[in-house]
Amino acid sequence: MFEHITASEIAGYAVGALLLSATISAPKIDSLISSSQRSSLGMCKGCGDVKRIACRKCKGSGLIKEGGPFALIPIVDDNNPSFKSKSVSCNNCRGRGCFSCPQCSQL
Ligand SMILES: [Zn+2]
Ligand SMILES: [Zn+2]
Repeated sequence: MFEHITASEIAGYAVGALLLSATISAPKIDSLISSSQRSSLGMCKGCGDVKRIACRKCKGSGLIKEGGPFALIPIVDDNNPSFKSKSVSCNNCRGRGCFSCPQCSQL
């Protein structure tokens, strides 16, 4: 039955599944490792010692897509160039995509 599948193939599938799940769950893990864990590590609660906070409006990209509430939905626009031309500079961060951390800059 299992002659067709070698051990290395099984390992390959397992690693692939692990990488996939890690990629999907990474943002969730990042939000879990939030202020409590950062403070226990002696890191800045606001930014984790990065000294910067990503803009929430544009999610750090410095660009926002126009188009009302539907702009919040990520659009795979590789096949749809018309969407790319509608990106504008984020007015929240002035296109920088991030702010200097208020907690660090107070120090
Ligand atoms: Zn922004
Ligand atoms: Zn900070």
